[in-house]
Amino acid sequence: MKKELIYSGKAKDLYSSEDENLIVSVYKDQATMLNGARKEAIVGKGALTNQISSLIFQRLAHAGVATHFVKQLSDREQMNQKVDIIPLEVVLRNVSAGSFAKRFGMEEGEPLEQPIIEFYYKSDELDDPFINDDHIRLLKIANQEEISYLKSETYRINELLKDWFSQVGLNLIDFKLEFGKDRDGKIILADEFSPDNCRLWDENGNHLDKDVFRRNLGSLTDVYKMVLEKLKELD
Ligand code: UDP
Repeated sequence: MKKELIYSGKAKDLYSSEDENLIVSVYKDQATMLNGARKEAIVGKGALTNQISSLIFQRLAHAGVATHFVKQLSDREQMNQKVDIIPLEVVLRNVSAGSFAKRFGMEEGEPLEQPIIEFYYKSDELDDPFINDDHIRLLKIANQEEISYLKSETYRINELLKDWFSQVGLNLIDFKLEFGKDRDGKIILADEFSPDNCRLWDENGNHLDKDVFRRNLGSLTDVYKMVLEKLKELD
């Protein structure tokens, strides 16, 4: 099925397949932070992020969200539609945490009156700078109509995810999405959704996400396993 390695990222390797419109994503047993400056091998992580992301993408597709997900192939592999990634990290925040809390001098854990969206320009050389709608249009990353679509789709995805996570006792604090254009130029949700790119707190404020790695709070695979088991409880 897999042919050639076409991209090696921090969390996934992407391979071409026999079908030029499909790729195979292989989720790595590795965690990184600070743009790769800290990197650790974590056995079992790839299988967990692949399973969690597959489960979430299937549910999103069922709810009518257009995504690149085709099917899970094995423990660490899934098949995806090939897309041209729009070089934006679309971050949505429900509660203050991380860089947002730091930037505005807020405590972590303060609920925001309404969800807010931030864009970051995906560029390793530039360290993924914060970017606004005017910059996005100026740099021709996306036009106004596309920016509006990215925002409305991200708000809609947030409502679905918040509901699912709250059903299993988890509070969705914030998350990052990436979108791409398929061969017809249609924007679809791409990349992954797992505790690697969101924050999830339980009722006691325990972190069940990558902050466990970033802040040395315990075993990352133990908490990812908990998230997967909880999500499996959903109808
Ligand atoms: N995030 C991500 N990739 C990045 C930066 C952030 O997936 O390169 C996610 C992160 O896991 C969190 C949200 O986006 O769920 C907001 O992250 P924040 O800006 O607070 O940055 P951090 O504190 O993680 O550096």
